[in-house]
Parts: sequence; structure tokens; C-alpha cells
Amino acid sequence: MKWTIFFDLDDTLISTSERHYRIYKDILRDYGIQNILSKEDFWNYKRMGRKTVELLAKNSSEEFIQKFMDEWLKRIENKNYLKYDNLLSESLIILSGLKNKADLMLVTLRNNRENLFWELNNLGLVNYFKEILVDSPVKLKNKMTLVKDYTEKQLKENKFIIVGDTEADILTGKELGMLTVAVAYGIRSKEFLEKLKPDFCLNSLSEFLKILKKVGDDL
Ligand SMILES: [Mg+2]
Repeated sequence: MKWTIFFDLDDTLISTSERHYRIYKDILRDYGIQNILSKEDFWNYKRMGRKTVELLAKNSSEEFIQKFMDEWLKRIENKNYLKYDNLLSESLIILSGLKNKADLMLVTLRNNRENLFWELNNLGLVNYFKEILVDSPVKLKNKMTLVKDYTEKQLKENKFIIVGDTEADILTGKELGMLTVAVAYGIRSKEFLEKLKPDFCLNSLSEFLKILKKVGDDL
């Protein structure tokens, strides 16, 4: 029996808060808008589960909202912004510790595959994973199809874990009957995540190894 562990990327292994905030701020500035949230307020709203577009001024026109969304999509995976992502300090320690004992998978929704690999190489993440599963967030609402297609090809006795910071990760894990681990330091708060009833909710990735022990494995 072998564990296969599906790791989410954004805000599970890396921090994207600076990239997201800069894009929000830059678009509003480009349109001459003065009323811009502080980074702290912006991120707190995100952690409560709010979409970025819901953080625009209440009196924004439909036309402006559409322009904002178009600009967001143009910039969100641009290298000029991806360079603001940071590797979270515990990620490499945890991945190194698990690499030879479990099959590590990266599962992420990104539109630009080339820029994803550019970023993974820059952050030194690419070699930890057996496979990198990626598809477009415009095409897929969540990661269900990506993960399901992979698990169905594996041996029945394999055991699966998913680790991630949003509803997209948790709902996928629960729907597929996998051990579902939420991390509460990312884009959603612990209060938000606990309502989705993951098996575990971590304050830090370093707690992940303890969980494996708890579920009766000696990884
Ligand atoms: Mg994420």
C-alpha cells in the first residue's frame, strides 16, 4: 500500500498574496480609482471567502467590472506578476521528507502551462513531483476531473490524500472519498474551511507529518 498525496500549489506550497494584491491595486490605479483596500484588508476579505471582484466599489458599473475581470485574467499568470510569488518556508522540508516514501502529485488550475513550469523551476519545486496535473480554471470549476482521472488509473489498494487551502481542494477530496487536509494559512480562514468539514485543518504544513501518524501510517 502506498500513499499518493495531491498537493495544491497556490497558497498551500507557495504564497500568492503579493501577486494577487499587486494585480488588484495596479488595475484600479490604471483606471484612476482612488479607493483601494490595504493589502491586509484585501487579504482578510479573501480569507472570509470573498471573490476579488466582490471587493470592487459597490457602485461599479457592469462595464467596469467586466474590464476588471478581463484585465485580471490577462495579468494573473503573467511572469511580471508571478515573480512576486514566494515559496513557503516549510514546503521543501515537507516535500523532501515525503518524496521517497509517497507518490507526490501537484494539482493546480492554471491557464498558462509554460509560465507554470517557469515558476516551478524558479522556485525549485519541479523535481519533487511524480506528476504535475494542470488544467484551465476557465474550463474546470474545480479539480475533481483532474484528480479522479488519475486515481482511477491507480491500484485499488492505493490510498489518497489531498492537501489544499480552498473549497476547490476540499470538495474534490470529500467527493472522491479521500483523506482531506485543509491548510488554514492560505486564501481561506480556518472558520471558512471548517464549515466544509475536511478531515484535518492545519495551521502550518509542518503539522502534516503528525497527521500521517494519526491515521496509522509510519511515513
Ligand atoms: Mg490554493
